[in-house]
Amino acid sequence: MSEDDQPDIYKTRVRYDIEREKRWRPDGPVQYTEFESDNSNLAEHHPDIPANTNCLQNLRVLIVGAGFGGLLFAVRLIQSGFCLGTDIILVDTAGGFGGTWWWNQYPGLTCDVESYTYMPLLEETKYMPSQKYVSGIELQEHAQRIAEQWDLSSRGIFGMKADEMIWCDQDGQWTTKVSGADGVSQTIKSQFVILASGLLHYPKIPKLHGIDQYNGKVFHNSRWDYDYTGGSQVDPKMNRLQDKTIGFVGTGASAIQAIPHLARWANKLVIFQRTPSAVDSRNNRPTDPGWWEEYTNSGQPGWQRRRMENFNAFLSNDSPPQIDLVADQWTKMPSFSAVIGGPRALEPGYLAEISKIDLDRQDLLRRRITDVVTDEKTAMSLQPWYEGWCKRPCFSDDFLQTFNRSNVTLVDTNGKGISNLTEKGLLVEQGEFDLDAIIFGTGYTLGGCADRGSVPLTGRNGITFQQKCQSGFATLHGVCTNGFPNLFFPGPYQAGATANQVYVLDQLALHVAHILSKAKLKVTGETEGSLVSFTVEPSVEMEEEWTSQILSRAGALRGALNCTPGYWNREGLKLSEDEAYLAARFSIWGEGIGSFVKEIERWRDEGLQGLEIRSL
Ligand code: NDP
Repeated sequence: MSEDDQPDIYKTRVRYDIEREKRWRPDGPVQYTEFESDNSNLAEHHPDIPANTNCLQNLRVLIVGAGFGGLLFAVRLIQSGFCLGTDIILVDTAGGFGGTWWWNQYPGLTCDVESYTYMPLLEETKYMPSQKYVSGIELQEHAQRIAEQWDLSSRGIFGMKADEMIWCDQDGQWTTKVSGADGVSQTIKSQFVILASGLLHYPKIPKLHGIDQYNGKVFHNSRWDYDYTGGSQVDPKMNRLQDKTIGFVGTGASAIQAIPHLARWANKLVIFQRTPSAVDSRNNRPTDPGWWEEYTNSGQPGWQRRRMENFNAFLSNDSPPQIDLVADQWTKMPSFSAVIGGPRALEPGYLAEISKIDLDRQDLLRRRITDVVTDEKTAMSLQPWYEGWCKRPCFSDDFLQTFNRSNVTLVDTNGKGISNLTEKGLLVEQGEFDLDAIIFGTGYTLGGCADRGSVPLTGRNGITFQQKCQSGFATLHGVCTNGFPNLFFPGPYQAGATANQVYVLDQLALHVAHILSKAKLKVTGETEGSLVSFTVEPSVEMEEEWTSQILSRAGALRGALNCTPGYWNREGLKLSEDEAYLAARFSIWGEGIGSFVKEIERWRDEGLQGLEIRSL
């Protein structure tokens, strides 16, 4: 970039401030409501309760969530020798394995992290992903593949939601009530519970005036209704839209994938934007089998973990290696360390340094828009004015191009968003838009501490998880907490973070498997076979020590404070000093994922200090 081309830093920052203030609203997260799907295709999942329900009365491990998180916990527990596949049940509201990749079936669904780093257990399954970024279908099939390889296929209870969990000190078990949409319910008693129910799974929409008046079709992008649109996830030829005018609300990470497909099939597509995404190029391509063969066979075992860690090092700006193995637009974004932390993130000048890098990046992305989008007004509306780390970075080679189609209209609500429905469609400042259907790509409720998977939890002495969250959240390494014995969860609070969530889940699954197998060894003296009961939980002192380490690094994430509202900063909710202190206890590990993993590995090597293990 020549000197003349440099963005005017001062003007840009002023614009960032103006755009942020425009979007700030006092109701914060309360502006949304959860969206119940009426998609009958999805509602018809019958609970699949194993015939021998006795096995649910003295179960070893109950895992809530059968996505990649739940599966990784199951696999790592089996591999560690802690239990067998037959000692585990996975329960999930979805109709099969896959979690988010089961629920989301919208056209264009693709993982935005490279498949060779994202797809779990590639070395063990020897599976070659078909492309650098694979589709949701391939990811869901991979979840099924993992379940089959570790004999977990018959261990899933689907279409069932965990409603309540209560710990009993007398028998050392958790009692979990699960129920299905059709009223079937079941009680499961287990020694251990893993909550791997994900974070972004309850679709939300804005609270809208007039939602009952609207006569057209409404659905959320995560509950796609192919009966209405035509086509299927495998073949999204949405021919039933050819005479329809469709409204799409939102321009986030899901929207940018679905919108190009809708534009191809709808007679007219009207897109309602509140805040534009920053969209970089994708450059997806098929996997070259020759390269794959050589890459996966020539190296030492552990190639996938090394590739994941190579990716992480670039994102958290952690002495990035000379060779960039993934080499995509993610790895050119060291400024992402502002929200996932990094070893240098606490240095006084660090934020200024990455802000400068980010200003240049965002400026290039704004220019990319004016290069691609032919209508000048539309191109201006699509430009993001905030730091690139404030929203999920997006990558696409067909989203911006979609706005050059004659059947596509962008309605720029100038940061206000939509809030009014009428009988016929949506009413915004620009007028009323008649729409046959409205599809909401407005995101998900971010599970808080107390509502992780929305399961009310009661631990020892009747203390609820919610009470613990409100009085001062504390964990050991983001995976367990005092007063809730034998309960484990994969962060994200007080754990490390990166853009590749599968890496985090796997490290935490390995950690919990290590804790449980070592605890079992300590109690029984045996590595395999014994079903002796025991409890494991961190001491109060140990979890306070970990929390103080989290708090001392929370300043590393100060870059998020000035962000435009979004779910990452609880819609810019303003907090009192006391609230801010309590909220800081939910921070991630500020020094980055590499440092976090070293820290928990060191703790394991030193012998599980501060963990209370009792035989029953
Ligand atoms: P997001 O929350 O990221 O986006 C929601 C969109 O809806 C935003 O553009 C938001 O605008 C807009 N919106 C909200 N309220 C209104 C309103 N009243 N009027 C108009 N627009 C409104 O949800 P997504 O489903 O897109 O993504 C959620 C997360 O899911 C991502 O951040 C990512 O973590 C994950 N994801 C991952 C993918 C992957 O490949 N790994 C793919 C897709 C999603 P505003 O920005 O102003 O709030």
